[in-house]
Amino acid sequence: MNIKPRQSKIPIGISQCAMGDPVRYNGGHKHSKVCTELLSQCFEYVPLCPEVAIGMGVPRKPIHLLVEKASAPVDAVRVVGVEDSSVDVTAPLRDYADSVVPELEKVRGYILMQNSPSCGLRGVRRYLDNGHGIDSEGVGVFARRLQQRFPHLPMEEVGRLNNSELRENFLTRVFAYDAWFRCVEMTDTETEGDPERVPSRLARIIDFYTAYKYLLLAHNQEATRALGRLLADARSMPEDELAFKVRGGIMNILSRPASRKDRTNALMHSAGHLSEFLDRAEKAELTELIEEYRLGHKPLSAVLTLLRHYLPRSPHGFIHSQVLLAAEPAELGLCDFH
Ligand code: SF4
Repeated sequence: MNIKPRQSKIPIGISQCAMGDPVRYNGGHKHSKVCTELLSQCFEYVPLCPEVAIGMGVPRKPIHLLVEKASAPVDAVRVVGVEDSSVDVTAPLRDYADSVVPELEKVRGYILMQNSPSCGLRGVRRYLDNGHGIDSEGVGVFARRLQQRFPHLPMEEVGRLNNSELRENFLTRVFAYDAWFRCVEMTDTETEGDPERVPSRLARIIDFYTAYKYLLLAHNQEATRALGRLLADARSMPEDELAFKVRGGIMNILSRPASRKDRTNALMHSAGHLSEFLDRAEKAELTELIEEYRLGHKPLSAVLTLLRHYLPRSPHGFIHSQVLLAAEPAELGLCDFH
């Protein structure tokens, strides 16, 4: 399976205030240039403001997360007015999230505003009924519902996307999630050419893992091998269950940033596939370059460029299919932003 880049922008959900729209409780916004000027090069946004959508209006009285005690389970929260805790919008926010699920079936990632009792993805401040802050273990009620409805959907907070490594990781996850739906879960109408010649879904699941194998190894070797063992026994479980587990496994592995050590290992595996087509000097140059990458003296792009230069010499489909060797987010100019 050769996973081709998407020709159109990827649909991504986003908290509307990050787009610069004045929808916050105080009539302001939280414009993110990284989202609107950088990531918009490859993302097509679906902006939503849950609080406005449930009719709270702008400006509106602030709300916060209420719990009965510290360390209460994440779902044991209510979203209530800061000044008047009898104003409870928990159910409307959850119902709103449920109502937009059909619209969000098509998004391949979601960017959420941090610290919001509706949109925050982690670490939202929680309060007791007496108004005292008790902990920061909260998840916004809208964001939490999205997690439950789309358990593998790549999600990230706006502020964290200012960090180039976290941004690269989010892009990697979005590209993978999008590729899964384009290459594994496509409907009959989306298949190009003769549907009879499209491989079975089981074959597509296995091919997808195979194409991602070296990229996955760069993120988590142990979990990648465990996923490989699951696929070796693929026929022992219903296909839908297998697809869910493999997709979840892949997204979980990619959520851990690739370490230089594990990336070096994956690059050496790739080089190993090409070595029989290289002469002694070329092999030595490639090995030295990978070592310099390992030591932090050369960028990843330098190694990938050389590997891609030698790639046409190999007739083997496996190495040609490797997503690791395709253009990575940093090379698309999406990671550096000043
Ligand atoms: S954080 Fe969410 S609910 Fe709050 S203003 Fe932004 S989009 Fe609206």
